Amino acid sequence: ALQARSLSKSFGTVQAVRGVSLEVQAGETLALLGPSGCGKSTVLRCVAGLEQPEAGQVFVGGREVTALPPEQRHVGLVFQDYALFPHLSVLRNVAYGPSMRGESKPRVQMRAREALDLVALGELAGRFPAQLSGGQQQRVALARALATRSPLLLLDEPLSNLDEKLRAELRTDLRALFGRVGAGVLIVTHDQREALALADRVAVMRAGQLVQVGPAPAVFREPHSAWVAAFLGWPN
Ligand code: ATP
Ligand code: MG
Repeated sequence: ALQARSLSKSFGTVQAVRGVSLEVQAGETLALLGPSGCGKSTVLRCVAGLEQPEAGQVFVGGREVTALPPEQRHVGLVFQDYALFPHLSVLRNVAYGPSMRGESKPRVQMRAREALDLVALGELAGRFPAQLSGGQQQRVALARALATRSPLLLLDEPLSNLDEKLRAELRTDLRALFGRVGAGVLIVTHDQREALALADRVAVMRAGQLVQVGPAPAVFREPHSAWVAAFLGWPN
């Protein structure tokens, strides 16, 4: 679903991302982990086309998209700030992505409803974002990404605004959901339980570089360096 090759991105003198390469297979979930400021969101933004990397290439579904604008990359996005359109109903927020692709209105509506049902918000389709809790808004953003039926979903802390109970619920649901939609998923999370529960593989990032990539249980069991061990919470 995704191949990123040697991505680098600086902001002034800050080298946010330094030569990051990663792959996500169709149907696979890769969790990107690392301390605050290590460059996780920047990697996702480069893949999504919201930042232009100085170096490197991005392929989505085998097609090079490095020079394409975000709307031509066929990716579904949920970011930390899940910006919904305040003047559109929940249903229309979710329908916004697919409807941009020039599909018929009934089909778009059907997909939007399906996606809302998947995140258990079918009942609230007619509400406006201001009438929802933070967690519900986050689920609307998730539904919008799912409704695009993109081969690649990019999720930046998609559950960060939810309380622990909802997080636990959605964690389980998401895993099943990802399986059902068959997309490749690249998810940023600071929650290691979430990473273990959702991800097939994890990639650990430090200061702009990947320091360990592997199957989730293996990385948690056998960190390759003292730094990764400490980051994953191993006693030293
Ligand atoms: P967090 O876990 O806190 O979300 P992160 O791993 O997602 O952190 P990034 O947001 O990718 O980190 O930021 C990586 C580095 O790049 C940081 O030092 C950050 O301050 C810097 N940075 C990110 N975006 C910009 C920007 N638009 N302008 C300047 N510096 C930026
Ligand atoms: Mg971030």
